[in-house]
Amino acid sequence: MTPPIIRIEHIARYEGQEVTLRGWLQLKTGKGKLQFLRVRDGTGIIQAVVFRGNISEEEFEAAKRLPLESSLIITGIVKGDARAPGVPGGYELDVRHLQVVQEAAEDYPIGPKEHGVEFLMDNRHFWLRSNRQWAILRVRATIVKAIRDWLDDNGFILVDTPILTPAAAEGTTTLFQTDYHGTPAYLAQTGQLYNEANIFAFGKVYCFGPTFRAEKSKTRRHLQEFWMVEPEIAWCKLEELLEIEEQFVSYIVQTTLRERAAELKALERDTSHLEKVIPPFPRLSYDEAVACINEAAARGVTVPPHDDPLPPLEWGNDFGAPHETFIASLFDKPVFVHHYPSAVKAFYMEPEPGRPEVCRSADLLAPEGYGEIIGGSERMSDPDVLLAAIDRHGLPREPYRWYIDLRRYGSVPHSGFGLGVERTVSWICGLEHIRETIAFPRMLGRLNP
Ligand code: ATP
Ligand code: MG
Repeated sequence: MTPPIIRIEHIARYEGQEVTLRGWLQLKTGKGKLQFLRVRDGTGIIQAVVFRGNISEEEFEAAKRLPLESSLIITGIVKGDARAPGVPGGYELDVRHLQVVQEAAEDYPIGPKEHGVEFLMDNRHFWLRSNRQWAILRVRATIVKAIRDWLDDNGFILVDTPILTPAAAEGTTTLFQTDYHGTPAYLAQTGQLYNEANIFAFGKVYCFGPTFRAEKSKTRRHLQEFWMVEPEIAWCKLEELLEIEEQFVSYIVQTTLRERAAELKALERDTSHLEKVIPPFPRLSYDEAVACINEAAARGVTVPPHDDPLPPLEWGNDFGAPHETFIASLFDKPVFVHHYPSAVKAFYMEPEPGRPEVCRSADLLAPEGYGEIIGGSERMSDPDVLLAAIDRHGLPREPYRWYIDLRRYGSVPHSGFGLGVERTVSWICGLEHIRETIAFPRMLGRLNP
């Protein structure tokens, strides 16, 4: 009987049986009659033990000679309870046959020694094969699935929005311009304006796709291309929006903790903070936040990562990274900061009645210094107020005519938010830099590979 071809993730079902695995050689040790091959197949890692007496002479010689990253097919008996160092899962394969599919070149660029970040980024196409990147991107896949599951199960309809757009939606300074048959077009900074059209047909919608922003400064939290999920909800005021956001975020975190425990352990993530991410989340107004910041700045409080002094903040200005880090450090859960000054936010946010200098917006700041993961708000419902805001922001009226018209035919209070996938992955995995959260990051000064 030919042994079944299986994946390492299912190895436990086959203890004591002969199976075939297909994968890549990740590490090799051994001497004399015994070779230990650490083999990776995309679903897991296993130690394959090649003993000279159990295998043909040619196959043993091939194993001995085999360069790292060669592809191979191995057949052997699954042995339980092996405590191979550095190999999770506790199983090994006692090899009886070994077939080399492609013998890799000897000079695989990534070795066990420390490499610089630039070198690793140049070799991102290989770096992805490392255990750490593997763990991060598996966590990412689970986060994305949790996002979709929660929205799909809570009455939201997925409606995809365009990537090529005729106008700015989030400020004109971060636009990527392209040519649309002789007319300038821009890569989408958000799908929100289209989401707002879609709620009148579907009630609760979301779009989920790549988002493009020509960010002009290098930070640990900004990519040029990132993935954003944007729910938009009819008949929803700011207070209800925050309740939806906290349910959503806690579902994403708790699902990931449950389903990717092994990967988070491999990343040495201390998950105790994440376990506390359960509603309700604290809420702080922008006014209160500014007061806290200025009081602490006067006391000479310092903030991570470099323990620089917290700068004071003049009312009306947007937060910098140190302000976000400081505010988040006051709580052990994500915190909402609401009612920002209208002048620092996008044009479409509803002003607070009786206090138009602030808007009905809220950002969600992640704990442990990971910064803003969600930006959201109630949207302007009055067409005249909206037109005035478009003028005030120096935006052309014509491309927004359809958007303003939405308010003339059945306008309702509505709200929505955008959650950045890569920021969420950074936070949940505990990463220093956003570059590791996506397979091929697009960053300032890097378009390759
Ligand atoms: P920031 O102030 O950090 O630049 P923002 O106010 O521009 O954020 P929004 O326009 O509210 O962000 O976008 C919603 C979410 O998208 C953010 O909360 C964040 O999670 C994510 N996001 C925004 N810009 C980027 C970027 N350049 N790279 C990765 N994620 C981003
Ligand atoms: Mg921004």
